[in-house]
Amino acid sequence: MPIARARPMTPADTLTDEAKAAARREGARERSRRWREAHPEARREKDRRYREANREALLEKDRRYREANREALLEKDRERSRLSRQANPEANRDRVRRWREANPEVAQAMNRRWREANPERLRETNRESVRRWREAHPEAARKASRESARRWLSANPEAARETNQAAGKRWREANPEIVRLKAARRRAHKAGVPHEPWSLAEVLQRDSWTCQLDECRCPEGRAIDPDAEPRTQWSASADHVVPISRGGPDTTANLQAAHMACNSAKGDRLADTLEEPGAG
Ligand SMILES: [Zn+2]
Repeated sequence: MPIARARPMTPADTLTDEAKAAARREGARERSRRWREAHPEARREKDRRYREANREALLEKDRRYREANREALLEKDRERSRLSRQANPEANRDRVRRWREANPEVAQAMNRRWREANPERLRETNRESVRRWREAHPEAARKASRESARRWLSANPEAARETNQAAGKRWREANPEIVRLKAARRRAHKAGVPHEPWSLAEVLQRDSWTCQLDECRCPEGRAIDPDAEPRTQWSASADHVVPISRGGPDTTANLQAAHMACNSAKGDRLADTLEEPGAG
C-alpha cells in the first residue's frame, strides 16, 4: 500500500471548486490577451474565422443585447447624431434636404406632426424666417407689407379703425411735445393769431419752475416739482396769459409756467387750457 507523501498545504487547497474554476478562466483570459497582443495579424485572422463560423449566433447575441438595452442605445444614437449635426451643420442640412426629396410624403407627415406638437416654436421659426427674408429683400418686403396692410384694411374696416386709433393714441403718448405744438398751431391758425414753435421746457426754465398764477392753489407753494408724475394735479403746464380764443398769440412771450391744476382752475376767465398732456 503506497504511503501518501505529506505535502504542505497551499492557499489553493482552501479554495472551493468554483473559485478554482474562476481562477483558471482568469488565467486563460490573461494568456489569451498576451497572445493576442503579441500576434495582431494572427489575431485578426482568427477573429475573422470565428465570426464567420458563428455568424448566426453572434447576430442573435447582438439582437438580444439591443433588445435588452434598447433605450440606452437609442439615447446614445441620438447623442451621436446631435453631436454630428452640431459639427457639420451644412452637411446635415444637405442630408436632410436629400432625404426629404426622396421621401416627400413621410417628410410632409412628419412636418405636420411637428407643427401640431410645437405651435409656439413654429411661430418663432416663422417670425425668424420672415425677418431673414425681409432683410434680404427690403424693397419686396415693403411692397408686400403695403399690399397685406391694404388687403387687411379693406377686409376689416371696423378693426382697422380701432387699430388706427390705438396706434394714434400710442404715438401721441410717446410724443406729447409734438402733439402739443401741432394742436397749438392748429388753434392759432383757426383763431388767426400768430404762432411760433415753443417748448414747455423752455417756458418752465424761463419762469424758474414757478407757478405764475396769482391764484396758485398748490398747498406746497408755487414751486413746480420737476419729478411730479406728468399730467397730474401739481405737474408742470404752460398757460396762455391771453388765451388764443381772445386773440393771444401762441408764442413763448404769451406763455407762463403753471401747475396743471391751477391752469385748469383759471378756467375760461383768462385761461386757455390745452387738451394735450403736459401743457395748458
Ligand atoms: Zn400753481
